[in-house]
Amino acid sequence: MLALSFLRVNHPFFPDLHTELASSHQTELYAAVPPTCLPIVYSPAYNITFLGLEKLHPFDAGKWGKVIHFLKEEQFITDENIVVAREASEEDLLVVHTKSYLSRLKWSMVVATITEIPPLVFLPNFLVQRKVLRPLRTQTGGTIMAGKLAIDRGWAINVGGGFHHCSSDKGGGFCAYADITLAIKFLFERVEGVCKATIIDLDAHQGNGHERDFLYDRRVYIMDVYNRHIYPGDGFAKKAIERKVELEWGTEDSEYLEKVELHCEGALNEIRPDIIVYNAGTDILDGDPLGGLAISPQGIMKRDEIVFMAARRRGIPILMVTSGGYQKKTARIIADSILNLQRQHLIGEEALEEAGQSSVPVIMSKFM
Ligand SMILES: [Zn+2]
Repeated sequence: MLALSFLRVNHPFFPDLHTELASSHQTELYAAVPPTCLPIVYSPAYNITFLGLEKLHPFDAGKWGKVIHFLKEEQFITDENIVVAREASEEDLLVVHTKSYLSRLKWSMVVATITEIPPLVFLPNFLVQRKVLRPLRTQTGGTIMAGKLAIDRGWAINVGGGFHHCSSDKGGGFCAYADITLAIKFLFERVEGVCKATIIDLDAHQGNGHERDFLYDRRVYIMDVYNRHIYPGDGFAKKAIERKVELEWGTEDSEYLEKVELHCEGALNEIRPDIIVYNAGTDILDGDPLGGLAISPQGIMKRDEIVFMAARRRGIPILMVTSGGYQKKTARIIADSILNLQRQHLIGEEALEEAGQSSVPVIMSKFM
């Protein structure tokens, strides 16, 4: 019986409810976090560095570490006051992924296709697992951890994650694990009072992974703003989007920010979720070879401010993941935006105090 008690965060008023979910597995991702830590999740294991292979992908595969470096330089964080991400285990991944999908990742060729790093084909799979998939699994664990932290603290940021092209049985576009779907399903299964989620996906690409996963799930409301002319153009997945904003090539700040604000407010007025998952891709940046939009660094900071403001003003917990963003200057912009959120008192210790007084449900973490 004690083992079963690990399964669910107990509700103080309904202590027996946790026994409903006897099938949930034991996870390390919902372990207690010291109150002295900011809900910012990261691990040095996020970064992919291997024989220069990372240079073959138009992706700054070390951007996550650089964001942390800049945040430390500005004395917003230290190694001691952030939360260290843990790798998602196979059992954790099976909450969403099929066994056959996870088995397919044991073929280097499959991983080469998903990550768009063709030379991986020639590597033995144990190296692919260790050097590419483990970093992605750690980022995935980070998103799941940040989901619970967002509920407990009112906000949380995973400095990585946001693999929005991956669904339960299919990866693609660098996304091997469906971290957004996982974070939401973990909350639904394990945290009392969380039964509605809104995904605000503002990466330049359509988030077809979580859209396919939640296509027939009425608990999840999806807003997606993306360049209509680029990958993945997944018409089937589009049916899952309640608020679809398709942009043209070269969309600039004023039009973009106006649409983001209008639809953020509209989405949250339509349905009040228990959690917002904000996919904050920075490949909307002007000059991005894949995103095809023309948003300035200031525009990205303003965008993040708009989303956090909409969430915080309503007292809705928000989880941010950093998703796509492929230029060398991206890390600096992400760090600047996080610092701006702090300056605006939308995150940081003051935000923590406010969250304590908001309508965030009080969860008693008896065993976790
Ligand atoms: Zn993208």
